[in-house]
This record gives sequence, structure tokens and C-alpha cells, in this order.
Amino acid sequence: MPGKSGIRDGLIGPARSALQRGAKLVELALFPSFCKLCGTLLERAGERVLCAGCLQKIVPETASSCVCCGRFFDGEGGPHACAACLERKPPFDRHRSCARYRGELKDALLLFKYRRFRSLGKALGRFVVESLAEEIVLWDGVDVVIPVPLHPRRRRERGFDQARVLAREIGRLRKLPVAAGVLRKVRNTAPQTSLEREARRANVRGAYEVARSDRIRGRVVLLVDDVFTTDSTIRECAAVLKRAGAREVRAVTVAQA
Ligand SMILES: [Zn+2]
Ligand SMILES: [Zn+2]
Repeated sequence: MPGKSGIRDGLIGPARSALQRGAKLVELALFPSFCKLCGTLLERAGERVLCAGCLQKIVPETASSCVCCGRFFDGEGGPHACAACLERKPPFDRHRSCARYRGELKDALLLFKYRRFRSLGKALGRFVVESLAEEIVLWDGVDVVIPVPLHPRRRRERGFDQARVLAREIGRLRKLPVAAGVLRKVRNTAPQTSLEREARRANVRGAYEVARSDRIRGRVVLLVDDVFTTDSTIRECAAVLKRAGAREVRAVTVAQA
């Protein structure tokens, strides 16, 4: 009796797609899954966690942003540097995020981060690459992509490291090398969301360390994280990477709060 792949290999065109449809129907009957936001049955090929309709509601921000820290401006007007960046240049060279942390994007990020719907990382990574495709100053000349790391204990609790999943997808789509173990979190910190701005800076001070400075010396680094709240985490990571010899540190996040 021929193996499963043998049967499949013998099929062409309509027969193969009928088989795939059949497989999808069996999957739906045995393990129906529903969109975690709207409850629609996920029946299209490739749909996982969220339906295509909910994913389509996640769109890039149209307001302009600070050319340096990437904060979105509320009013009209072209891109320029914000007052805070003009007064004191941050340790990172520039940061961009795709949209504000709200609506379906916020829900998707929460699902991705806290509920182990790891497969959302692909859609979110693609969203970053597509919505920031025209930001030449972000991508041009990048040597290595580095995710903002979780503390190993947090990673064990959660089961994966969300920034690492995003960094891999971004690296794959932009054809850039990803170096996950280069920056490490050496001190477990309180969640940044629970703290005020000054406390956030103190909270992350000394929390990161460069394990392999040979991988970043003289290089242009692109840091990747999921959410940008205050700039404390990116600042601290950028300062540590620069002390270890990085020539430039840029950062990209999916959303800013
Ligand atoms: Zn949905
Ligand atoms: Zn700024």
C-alpha cells in the first residue's frame, strides 16, 4: 500500500485541492476553532487564532511621528523631532512603531503575549515589515536584529519569548540575521506597566547585559519589542549595546501605548 505522501504526490490540480478541502472539513468537524476576538468559526485555510476579518482591522497609524523617538503626534504636521528629543537625544538612534496600542491590535498583542497564541507572531511580524516598509532610515544598513529579551524565569513561565518570535519573523522577511542570545536579561524586574515613568527607568537599570559583544561591535543593531510604553526598556538596552561597542542602535515595536 502506498504511503500517504505517495497518494498525495500522485494527485494534481482539482483532486489535490479537493483533498485539502476534505482535510480542512475533517479538521473543522473534529477540532473546530473560533476567532478569539469575534467568535467566528475559523474555516479559511491559514486562519489561526484570529479570523481574516479581525486581522484586516489592524491597520498602520497614519499620523506622523517624531523622527527620533517615534512617538506619534496628535495634531497635523509633517515628521519632525519632538521637544524631548531636541532637548536631549536618547541613547537609541531612532525608533518606530506601527500603530497605537488599542483596539484589535491591543487584543492581538495581549493574546500573543499572555495566552500562548504564539502563532500570532507571524501575522504581527508581517504587519511590522509591511507597515514600516517605507521607513528606509529604519532598515537601511542594519547588520543584526536583536529581540529585547525576557528574563529566563519569565520565559519559562510564559513558554516562549514574544519579542524573539517577532524578531525571527521580521528577520526572515527582511533577510536580516537575528541574534537572540546576544543581549540577556540578567535581573527579573517588576512589570513596567505597573510603574510610573521615573520608577520604570530605575526598574530596568542594570537589568540587561551583552553576552557576545563580538556580534555587535561596530555594527548597526535593530532592537525588536512588542509594545513601547515609555522608552525606558529601549533606552536601557540601547545604552548597554552602545557601551559594548554597537555603532548604531535602532528599535522597532509593533505598537506604542
Ligand atoms: Zn474575528
Ligand atoms: Zn522624540
